[in-house]
Amino acid sequence: MSDFKGVVVYCEIKGDKILPIAAEALGIGRKLADDLGQELAAVIIGGGIAAVAPQSVAQGADKVYVIDTPQLKEYQADAYLAALEKAVNQVKPAIVIMGQTDSGRELAPRLAFRLGAAATLDCVDLAIDADTRRLLQTKPVYGGNAQAVFTAAADPQIVTIRTKAMAALAPDPARKGEVVNLPVEIDAAVIKAKITERVVEEVAGIKLEDAQVVVSGGRGIGGADGFKQLDELARLLKGAVGASRPPCDNNWIADTAQIGLTGKIIAPEVYIAVAISGSSQHMSGCSGSKTIVAINKDKEANIFKQARFGVVGDWKKVLPAFIQKLKDLAAA
Ligand SMILES: Cc1cc2nc3c(=O)[nH]c(=O)nc-3n(C[C@H](O)[C@H](O)[C@H](O)COP(=O)(O)OP(=O)(O)OC[C@H]3O[C@@H](n4cnc5c(N)ncnc54)[C@H](O)[C@@H]3O)c2cc1C
Repeated sequence: MSDFKGVVVYCEIKGDKILPIAAEALGIGRKLADDLGQELAAVIIGGGIAAVAPQSVAQGADKVYVIDTPQLKEYQADAYLAALEKAVNQVKPAIVIMGQTDSGRELAPRLAFRLGAAATLDCVDLAIDADTRRLLQTKPVYGGNAQAVFTAAADPQIVTIRTKAMAALAPDPARKGEVVNLPVEIDAAVIKAKITERVVEEVAGIKLEDAQVVVSGGRGIGGADGFKQLDELARLLKGAVGASRPPCDNNWIADTAQIGLTGKIIAPEVYIAVAISGSSQHMSGCSGSKTIVAINKDKEANIFKQARFGVVGDWKKVLPAFIQKLKDLAAA
């Protein structure tokens, strides 16, 4: 029998809070740990983060390993990797879950390589195989056109999960858990890359990843001016504006608005796709939306196969009428 036991979630922190994706990872981690009849532990890493530990417990962890040193105040991949490796070597979990974030993408494969294990990135579902008790790791393949289920032969089984693909538990501040401080000294020699500059993305209004409604424009919008109308619609719906790749490549809107395989992955309640054809690369970023509404002048456009509601027509006519209707409803 393997020495590896239990589930560990690496909980990323922003400010003094765990990220929403960390809470989602704890939600699925709790289920997997219960199915295995084993423990769910969280690992938090940073400088001055002791106050964050109870949040991981409230979201489902039985135990929280805290690596808290001024050396880890700022995220640096080599240093965080060394800290995470130490935690995983100590806990010896069967499963390690991280978010599919910039650092999750960076740390998971490197951790797997160091431990002689495998990492499956961008999973949209996780479950325990009842016969083998191995982790079933479901992820989109072929640009989101199919889903494949993977298992890993070696432990720990390391995965990252897609944002909003799995649900967080409602936080329960009354839950009890053990907090374990793990002292770690980071050897300066392991830090091979130096951070020379940090650029913070300025977001006016609601962040794309957090918005319940996203209004996205594609190549058919034709220019930056068209995005002003999408912005008006998004503001009326208290949502955010996104885009397919061509508007970003053409600088009609910032690159950070791109949704898709090489852009952001979102799962809002409502996704309004305006003049977007619905390529698989685009859909892999928004197919998790609860309801897709499409406006496209081509009735054969692929987006209509994915949309619950569709309008065949020129967006320049459809959108002003839609905006006016919303204003009328708001005024009524
Ligand atoms: C490796 C790789 C990664 C990629 N990553 C991404 C990614 O992350 N995100 C992404 O979006 N794409 C990505 N792409 C590009 C992708 O393949 C498509 O080219 C892109 O999604 C097409 O964008 P679009 O639908 O806006 O444009 P088009 O496919 O050109 O579609 C424009 C649509 O607008 C409609 N239209 C035109 N005028 C009007 C009008 N007046 N009113 C209503 N409808 C109108 C047309 O009927 C058409 O359906 C990637 C490609 C590759 C190869």
